Amino acid sequence: MPPASTAAHTMINASLVELRRALDARQISSVELATLFLNRIAALDPQLNAFITVDRDGALAAARVADARIAAGEGGPLTGIPLAHKDLFCTEGVLTTCASRMLSNFVSPYDAHVVSLLKEAGAVSLGKTNMDEFAMGSSNESSFYGPTKNPWDITRVPGGSSGGSAAAVAARLAPIATGSDTGGSVRQPAAFCGITGIKPTYGLVSRYGMVAFASSLDQGGAFGASAEDCALLLGAMTGFDARDSTSLERPAEDYAAALAAPAAGKPLEGLRIGLPREFFAEGMADGVRAAVEAALAQYRALGASTVEVSLPNAKLAIPAYYVIAPAECSSNLSRFDGVRYGHRAAEYTDLADMYGRSRAEGFGEEVKRRILIGTYVLSHGYYDAYYLQAQRLRRLIAEDFKAALTQCDVIAGPTTPGTAWTLGAMADDPVQMYLSDIYTIAVNLAGLPGISHPCGFDAAGLPVGLQLVGDYFAEGRLLATTHHFQQATDWHQRRPECAR
Ligand code: GLN
Repeated sequence: MPPASTAAHTMINASLVELRRALDARQISSVELATLFLNRIAALDPQLNAFITVDRDGALAAARVADARIAAGEGGPLTGIPLAHKDLFCTEGVLTTCASRMLSNFVSPYDAHVVSLLKEAGAVSLGKTNMDEFAMGSSNESSFYGPTKNPWDITRVPGGSSGGSAAAVAARLAPIATGSDTGGSVRQPAAFCGITGIKPTYGLVSRYGMVAFASSLDQGGAFGASAEDCALLLGAMTGFDARDSTSLERPAEDYAAALAAPAAGKPLEGLRIGLPREFFAEGMADGVRAAVEAALAQYRALGASTVEVSLPNAKLAIPAYYVIAPAECSSNLSRFDGVRYGHRAAEYTDLADMYGRSRAEGFGEEVKRRILIGTYVLSHGYYDAYYLQAQRLRRLIAEDFKAALTQCDVIAGPTTPGTAWTLGAMADDPVQMYLSDIYTIAVNLAGLPGISHPCGFDAAGLPVGLQLVGDYFAEGRLLATTHHFQQATDWHQRRPECAR
């Protein structure tokens, strides 16, 4: 790509607050801004494969509307700001594929709640990002559209399942992006790509129009370079929605306002950070440990104290998750039968054969594996042995967090045991890949909010993420804690070569 002009380079790397200022001061129009990012996508995405669909015409039309609103003095913090949506959020008139052959021809007749909220806010959608098929995976390699590459090293995975969104933000193909997190799919790719990602409390973001994987765990989340950018995006995504039966009715919170530093003293004075003994015991790569320890020292320098806590049942999170999530997925994915929408086999003998062939052709290997496991654990005679037991473990895990959070305000640890692995490295070993979510999955089982922020690099130059977990509805605290860390450090401003 030819070197961008200094002005363009500044815009591409700007924070949302800076973009807002530039748009309001008419230093740049929303159409110009969208064009800058669309041109970057055209130049860089053939290599990264972060997008499944680029909606140039839709983006420019939305940007023109945003420019008119700005000119009229209307709109809010996101009016005219480009973003990208994970391709499991339904978008009216634009393909929503879930990175599956099954939905490769699906154009939704309606918008997901999150998508309509962001449209109303005036944000400009550039397109839909690549992901693991039906959000099942940790590497983006299960996509029907081919893997996304990590912008820090294109021989490596970006993490998953929201890897396209994370790679897009890291490579500055979009300033912010939406994602979803069932077992770590916002936090883990944020860690692998060196950006910030937050998964809120279960029920805070409506799941209406978000293609379902495991309904009791799925939750929409936000990606940005910084906590400040995530606060602005998340603030526009949350809100009660009667169409989602698990949507919570709560007064709106101003996450951006929650970032303000205290008038005097150290910004994190009095904050108690709990360090789960089990997370620091073993299994963490040396480079991850070193970066996380250094970040904790920085947290102490900012006034926080650290205290050891215990999550004795956290080790049971992966087995519990790999019963509950497949069980729910086997039920949710039964709707894809080739009848009303989605892929239908070209040739078949009768109705049952049509279902069978359409599903055999439409789903990839990992999705089939999960449907099989889920159907098995829910079947008569096995339900009590597996599914009910897993639900019991889930409660124990939630109780561990509850107890730990009486001793501290937030829980900290690595987001992932290692950094981004080489494409294909875990292709033949799904269980090894499942284990890479060891620190994130328990948080979904408990329904708690979690954030991952960059905290350094390993010896191979790959980003390391630190995860903070808070009590229910502690999003403001997680964002503020991260923000104060980011005010004192510059990890979140580091960019891969293609965005420097
Ligand atoms: N990696 C986990 C899985 O494969 C989590 C995925 C997610 O959060 N969507 O299920």
